[in-house]
Amino acid sequence: MESALVRLVRERAGDRCEYCRMPQAFERTPFQVDHVIARKHGGPTSPGNLCLSCFYCNSFKGSDIATLSPDSRRLVALYNPRTQNWPRHFRWRGAHLQGRTETARATIILLRINEPLRIELRSALIAEGIDFD
Ligand SMILES: [Zn+2]
Repeated sequence: MESALVRLVRERAGDRCEYCRMPQAFERTPFQVDHVIARKHGGPTSPGNLCLSCFYCNSFKGSDIATLSPDSRRLVALYNPRTQNWPRHFRWRGAHLQGRTETARATIILLRINEPLRIELRSALIAEGIDFD
């Protein structure tokens, strides 16, 4: 991927994961440019389909674009950082990310955003004054 495109994605995201909002500055593993709609599903390598993702979110998301809802067990599309508004879908309760919508709750589970070690890291960062909003 061309460096100008990677730079655009990083800057637009403020160097934070666009799913879990972790700042790159506090993760050793470089964040990755994620195809929101994976190439294998026809997603283009263009700004409107790319987002910045931490290693964890990107690893658990893989090429998935949908998952079974924990609420209804229906297939629901994952949260799309390019077409959906983060604060409308998610909210923080301390270091625990809550989904306001079925889409968000399904995304949180698939991407394992509330795994104990991830909550522990966010708790420590919040105690240091880091803001995840
Ligand atoms: Zn993340």
